[in-house]
Amino acid sequence: MTTAAPLLVFGPRSTTYDFGPAHPLTPRRFGPGISLLEALGAVNRLAPEPAADEELAWVHEPSYVDVVKAFSRDPFGPPRAGIGPGDTPAFPGMHEASAAVAGGSLRAMEAILRGDVAHAFQPGGGLHHAMPARASGFCVYDDPALAIARARRDGLRVLYIDLDVHHGDGVQAIHWSDPGVMTVSIHETGTALFPGTGFPDELGGPGALGTKVNLPLDPWTGERGWLPALELVLPALAERFRPDVIVSQHGADAHAFDPLAHLNVTTTAMGRAARLVDELAHRHAGGRWLATGGGGYDVYRVVPRAWAHVWLAASHAPVPDATPEDWRQRWAEDAERYGQSPMPAAFDDPPNAGLPYRAADEAADARAVRIAEQVLEVVLRSLDDLGAQR
Ligand SMILES: [Zn+2]
Ligand SMILES: [Zn+2]
Repeated sequence: MTTAAPLLVFGPRSTTYDFGPAHPLTPRRFGPGISLLEALGAVNRLAPEPAADEELAWVHEPSYVDVVKAFSRDPFGPPRAGIGPGDTPAFPGMHEASAAVAGGSLRAMEAILRGDVAHAFQPGGGLHHAMPARASGFCVYDDPALAIARARRDGLRVLYIDLDVHHGDGVQAIHWSDPGVMTVSIHETGTALFPGTGFPDELGGPGALGTKVNLPLDPWTGERGWLPALELVLPALAERFRPDVIVSQHGADAHAFDPLAHLNVTTTAMGRAARLVDELAHRHAGGRWLATGGGGYDVYRVVPRAWAHVWLAASHAPVPDATPEDWRQRWAEDAERYGQSPMPAAFDDPPNAGLPYRAADEAADARAVRIAEQVLEVVLRSLDDLGAQR
């Protein structure tokens, strides 16, 4: 087993992926986020540089890359390919900034495939909504899909686990027909939240049925539904699929405090999920694990601790009793200014993030487990049929 410390994928280009001061996906998250990882001992770094055009072409139409480059030079062009006023606005240098996020996940995957490291984490990655020929939901180039494509070029089977509150639609679409890529996305249901997809009947293209897995959860589902659903489904699917490498997306927007969605997950549950992914990587994939960040819009109270939990899991380190006091002091004023105060004293949350546990929450949690049971049954049956066809 590779014993080197995990690779932190972050550098000067990471903060250039910036849609402007009013946009929710703010590079402000890197200040409190990266400084907390540094306090936990993250030193082994890879600074992202842009992926080459021919690499982006593994997952994107070259004509789309040309459109992004045009906006990159002139952000005031007419809206097209999902870029324009709204979720994914143009900004100067957007091609280079976006290609660098893609390049970060790509080089991290290569470091894992070479055996330089077992685990790598790109907090600024996880841009899972980007489609082959269009931007979507704050995502320009699909870095997890690109890292997966790189592993596929070596013939490796890839398990992709998407924990973001939004459906991982871009990664699913890009690898839809490939039976060598299993995508598993747990998210708030598309009837209530962007992007409006991710239902249990989305099982993959012909020849890949059962390799695309979706767990849509009702609004208000919390840690008591979300985590048991993952614990039910992930070990069973990993056992069945036998991946050679795992890619995971750890969007922090399923948290109870997140302003853009309606699940009630805690950092405690996110940490347990990250440790489950690590465990599965060692059990099935020779330890090969690339983790990315994702969404997360409470950037002082939630995002840094969600990232810290991924880092601690990848470092096989226990969760410290308290967050560092100098870290809390350093960011307290900014947190206050943006209405995300106080800086949390512990990495884990109190039960249900300290919110009252209502009958509606309990019902949503119970339903999450039932959905997981039903989805697992259908997926395993589809995989049986897929195996029988071969
Ligand atoms: Zn590990
Ligand atoms: Zn999200």
